[in-house]
Amino acid sequence: MENIRMVDLQGQYQQIEKPLSEKMKAVIESTAFINGPAVQEFQKNLEAYLGVKHVIPCANGTDALQIALMGLGLKPGDEVITADFTFAATVEVIALLGLTPVLVDVDPQTFNLDLEAVAARIGARTKAIIPVHLFGQTVDMEPLMALAKTHQLYVVEDNAQAIGATYTFSSGEKQKAGTIGDIGTTSFFPSKNLGAYGDGGALFTNDDALAHALRGIVNHGMYQRYHHDVVGVNSRLDALQAAVLDTKLPLLDFYNERRKMAAALYTERLQANEAITTPHRSGDCDSHVFHQYTLKIKGVDRDKLVQQLGAFGIPTGVYYPIPLHSQKAYTDPDYNESDFKVTNQIVNEVLSLPMHTELTVEQIDYICEKLLHSVASN
Ligand SMILES: *Cc1c(COP(=O)(O)O)cnc(C)c1O
Repeated sequence: MENIRMVDLQGQYQQIEKPLSEKMKAVIESTAFINGPAVQEFQKNLEAYLGVKHVIPCANGTDALQIALMGLGLKPGDEVITADFTFAATVEVIALLGLTPVLVDVDPQTFNLDLEAVAARIGARTKAIIPVHLFGQTVDMEPLMALAKTHQLYVVEDNAQAIGATYTFSSGEKQKAGTIGDIGTTSFFPSKNLGAYGDGGALFTNDDALAHALRGIVNHGMYQRYHHDVVGVNSRLDALQAAVLDTKLPLLDFYNERRKMAAALYTERLQANEAITTPHRSGDCDSHVFHQYTLKIKGVDRDKLVQQLGAFGIPTGVYYPIPLHSQKAYTDPDYNESDFKVTNQIVNEVLSLPMHTELTVEQIDYICEKLLHSVASN
């Protein structure tokens, strides 16, 4: 069995080596390294792919979240509701801006925001909700948008893990994840579904005024050269990274199909085992692009299982091992453990298997065979 990796970027690179080298060479020869034509071209192509009016490239996905909250004009003391079970970046930027993060529990099947828990925490100071499309699966956006509308709240979609996923409304209308809320944000971290060869990120919006505000904020609050109207940041997508992303963008749907195929094979082979809960998909087959393939493991020792699989050369990941409300940086004496029952439980159960675009049927068969064997002898 060839080397199994959690994420294999090497095989993907080999497929695009030639066009990529040409694009990168063109950027280097043009010497337009900052905000040059390569960045604009990628921006236009991503706008067309997503069906969104404005893409604002920036330096990484964490910046994108921060810039989104700055663009909405939130003020210290304003509360922002987000999930207890996500990567820390989401809550980090809320705290960094002096806003108040309000963490809520997630759904045990989808791992996404529990909308009832969100509704219960909306108060006079609540200004925004950040749904995270975790592991590549879209949050149920229709009821979430209705809830936000009722309470006049902004919605910022953290779409770092679900670029290319499509949400279907009850009317049958489809929209790309990240283009439904007031602002969507994403990350082009190398291991994300659309990954650069370094850092990168972007914001999406259909609102012209908001887009204008965000374009200034990413560039030192400048709307006219050397006139600084608001406090901004310096957050740019590198032109060489834009060349990488623009080479990969036409392949994104193919990449996501490869992930879905791998996920379907895993599920077929693992779903009958009672110690293993395979990922639940709440929408149609376009609603989940499997950034991660995450199982819930019950009745066996997960740490031991990780070791057993490691001995067979199979890497695994635990995303995420600690609820955000239990992290030192984000604990709050007002938090009540009984409000986080699901997160407290799933952090002990989740186990992510290798997931990338280059997985072969043989590798998946091997991983599943060893996993079932390890569970039985755990
Ligand atoms: C990766 C990720 C981010 C942060 O993106 P960076 O580009 O690494 O800053 C934010 N939110 C989620 C859910 C992520 O997975």
